[in-house]
Amino acid sequence: MKLYLVIPCYNEEAVLSETSKRLRGKYDTLMSAGKISPDSRIVFVNDGSKDKTWEMICDLHKADPVFRGICLSRNKGHQNALMAGLMTVKDECDAAISMDADLQDDINAIDAMVDKYAEGYEVVYGVRSSRKKDTFFKRTTAQGFYKVMKAMGVETVYNHADYRLMSSRALNALSEFDEVNLFLRGIVPMVGFKSTEVTYERGERFAGESKYPLKKMIAFATEGITSMSIKPIRLIATLGMLVFLASIGILIYSIIRYFMNATVPGWAFLAVSIWALGGVQLLAIGVIGEYIGKIYLETKHRPKYIISQYLNDD
Ligand code: UDP
Ligand code: MG
Repeated sequence: MKLYLVIPCYNEEAVLSETSKRLRGKYDTLMSAGKISPDSRIVFVNDGSKDKTWEMICDLHKADPVFRGICLSRNKGHQNALMAGLMTVKDECDAAISMDADLQDDINAIDAMVDKYAEGYEVVYGVRSSRKKDTFFKRTTAQGFYKVMKAMGVETVYNHADYRLMSSRALNALSEFDEVNLFLRGIVPMVGFKSTEVTYERGERFAGESKYPLKKMIAFATEGITSMSIKPIRLIATLGMLVFLASIGILIYSIIRYFMNATVPGWAFLAVSIWALGGVQLLAIGVIGEYIGKIYLETKHRPKYIISQYLNDD
């Protein structure tokens, strides 16, 4: 089986040499066990790094053809870099595994993923059995995020990040999704095919810093929700309905006050009008606004990524 590893890298000079060494070791054991063929490759995607990442990838490729490099023209974010890598290799390999450059996701899970592929699974999700080594902050925000996604009706695999194996066929199906707002964890389950999970323990980043500061995490979570779910529309609509119902309550209240002779002329009419109109407007604005937002994004047809170079064997 021809396996490709796809690894997005953004300013990863601190981890690249160690990562490539460990992956090369894994590659050798898998190959001597006859699980993968010698034409398997390890592909690094440089996501517009500002440090020496690309130079290091070039050196790796020069010294050892097992390593390949794809260089994006600028920083496009984790999801787009991953997509760029997967779409570039989708027709060359039998299956590709995506993983992070910092090897927080245990590379020993690759064996189990390859075995599952041999059993006929086309999508194998890597699932974190524990996150003890993550910081308290990372763990709670991440798990909160999975729960919010679920509440929003988005089908995702709990505690699965972008560490997964996909067959060439699944990747080709994935390429049919040309949405610009990319949230792979939500799209891959939509692709379908026979899928399963393998579990592993999540480790610590052994060098360098997280490339997902709070700002990027919030952007990522917002992207996940707004590109996958229409529940926020319904929430706004629900809010509008509640305000409208409140206006009926106020109507009843003001009739009571009227019979108690405790009203100023015109007060009931004004109070009820404000609440009723507010409710209807909130409902209408919410619904129309969300649709306009969607149309706006769809019409842009921005390219997801632009590849400036592709280092390959010849
Ligand atoms: N990454 C990327 N582009 C970005 C941010 C991150 O390609 O704009 C890559 C990064 O190099 C790493 C992976 O995405 O391989 C996950 O990032 P990180 O390990 O920093 O995230 P965390 O584990 O803290 O969630
Ligand atoms: Mg990490």
